[in-house]
Amino acid sequence: MDWKTFAKEARGRHIPVMMDEGIEMLCAFLQAHPEIQRVLEAGTAIGYSAMRMAMVRENITIDTIEIEKARYEEAVRNTQQAGLADRIFCHLGDAMNYRTAQYYDLFFIDAAKSQYARMVRHFLEFSYVGSYFFFDNLSFHGIVDDPSLSHNRSTIQMTRKIEQFRKWLEAHEQFDTQWFLEAGDGIAIAKRVK
Ligand code: SAM
Repeated sequence: MDWKTFAKEARGRHIPVMMDEGIEMLCAFLQAHPEIQRVLEAGTAIGYSAMRMAMVRENITIDTIEIEKARYEEAVRNTQQAGLADRIFCHLGDAMNYRTAQYYDLFFIDAAKSQYARMVRHFLEFSYVGSYFFFDNLSFHGIVDDPSLSHNRSTIQMTRKIEQFRKWLEAHEQFDTQWFLEAGDGIAIAKRVK
């Protein structure tokens, strides 16, 4: 699979797949942590980041949740065509309703930006002390730190929510968070420590 072409084609159709630097950082993190085997992704889109994560190692399995039916169906087709359907399990629905008996080593939260804190609270139940949470888009093209970069009211409202989420995560006593706000579109990796 030519991933650059795949991502470019998706972006051309306005499907917001992860930016190159962000996905490279996520894959490098998985490479550096061979203990991570079970991944939960909120926000599949058409399966790009799930397939990239699955390609890092054969012992990685991924549950990924997408709310839009057409995208979910395309993700199912893509993962089948890539021969990864035995390790990537696509779920159709709202990530906030996802329930499981499993625990995950890594949560990749890449769905509705305004709901990040709610999603973390929801997924905490399926984590353990030592699980990681990986977030992208925490700078949102620099607008979070410099709202004058946008004149769009809904964008500014959303970036305020991202800013609140950053403060909430930093202050959260159950997480030790590393910030890489200059990388990708603003990345944070939070390790559950309590
Ligand atoms: N992770 C994907 C990638 O890089 O290939 C990109 C995901 S895209 C940024 C976010 C996706 O989350 C969209 O396809 C959107 O439909 C989906 N989404 C938004 N809210 C959601 C929710 N509550 N539950 C599940 N999916 C959601």
